[in-house]
Amino acid sequence: MNPIFANLPTTVFEVMSGLARETGAINLGQGFPDDPGPEDVRRAAAEAVLNGYNQYPSMMGTPELRSAVAAHYRRWQGLDLDPNTEVMVTSGATEALAGAILGIVEPGDEVVLFEPMYDAYLPLVRLAGGVPRFVTLEPPHFRLTEEALARAFSPRTKAVVFNNPLNPAATIFPDEDLALLAEFCRRHDAIVISDEVWEHVVFDGRRHRPVLALDGLRERAVKIGSAGKIFSLTGWKVGFVCAAPHILKVLAKSHQFLTFTTAPNLQAAVAYGLGKEDAYFEGMRRDFARSRDRFTEGLRSLGFDVIPSQGTYFVNIDIAPLGETDDVAFCRRLVLEHGVAAIPVSAFYAEGAVRNVVRFCFAKKDATLDAGLERLARAV
Ligand code: PMP
Ligand code: GLN
Repeated sequence: MNPIFANLPTTVFEVMSGLARETGAINLGQGFPDDPGPEDVRRAAAEAVLNGYNQYPSMMGTPELRSAVAAHYRRWQGLDLDPNTEVMVTSGATEALAGAILGIVEPGDEVVLFEPMYDAYLPLVRLAGGVPRFVTLEPPHFRLTEEALARAFSPRTKAVVFNNPLNPAATIFPDEDLALLAEFCRRHDAIVISDEVWEHVVFDGRRHRPVLALDGLRERAVKIGSAGKIFSLTGWKVGFVCAAPHILKVLAKSHQFLTFTTAPNLQAAVAYGLGKEDAYFEGMRRDFARSRDRFTEGLRSLGFDVIPSQGTYFVNIDIAPLGETDDVAFCRRLVLEHGVAAIPVSAFYAEGAVRNVVRFCFAKKDATLDAGLERLARAV
């Protein structure tokens, strides 16, 4: 077996959800909402199946969805994308990440990764033969610094895998950090593979800034999105990549032998959904922000040290003030003894020794959040 996979542990999401199922714990670990998602979008998927959208769609994605992605990003982020040459549909953001990393990175190339990082990035960089160079972001602010970037970038830097809003930190990089990143990428002629799946789940009046809009990055960035996060339909695995034509051509080559295409009925439904009125997207943000506030206040009233959530479905606590030094042991105890599953954030670090942060998913019904808090009360 390829040692890159043979030596990998099972992903922390599967482990924690498995433990939650076995023990009947409340699952605030893996990030998925318990909301069923917008009914009209689900109905559009069902109708498309009945109306014959069932054969292989075009490898690049249906023309309707590619146009809808371009129109959506023009409306929300002011981007000017040609749907015919700059947009491709993938089977989830995960496939887009795989296609981008495998398509762009050659053996020996250096790839800058920011930890905490989503768990798919590092195995994919290794699979491509890339050499990871880590930038460790420290809680509670998870900011970029010039010194850290200067240490990670080199003449061999080919690409950067960037995630904003940042899972699991639930933070959003401020403009000055984005400008710093753009400056390093220009200087080192690096391509930014930008995972923006959380672009719509941002709170307190924030607006997402795509890397494609940063100075000098329009021609050297890959923007990755996911319908799973936009519509609370995480199992659908419909993603999209946007990039200048010369980059998208490379990604299309790797895509054709990863999945080739994506379920046509889901593409039809997502194309419909992306055109929904502004009020839908604003309402979604408002609902998630309300859940965030309810859960954050609950955690604080129990005495937990909460790191504020600026976006995503997540909020983190710092367990160091509780005298805890091992987030994995803390989470095992939480699920086995107290019946609440959470995610130890050290799972997102390869080098940095951050072991004091624990992530909860608040995209749940009030009753579930309240029941979770009641059980957490026994853990402090
Ligand atoms: N990137 C990040 C940062 C994520 O949080 C997730 C899933 N939540 C993904 C990628 C995977 O997205 P998808 O399910 O569309 O493959
Ligand atoms: N992205 C989700 C999370 O961060 C889970 C994705 C997965 O299960 N692979 O919780």
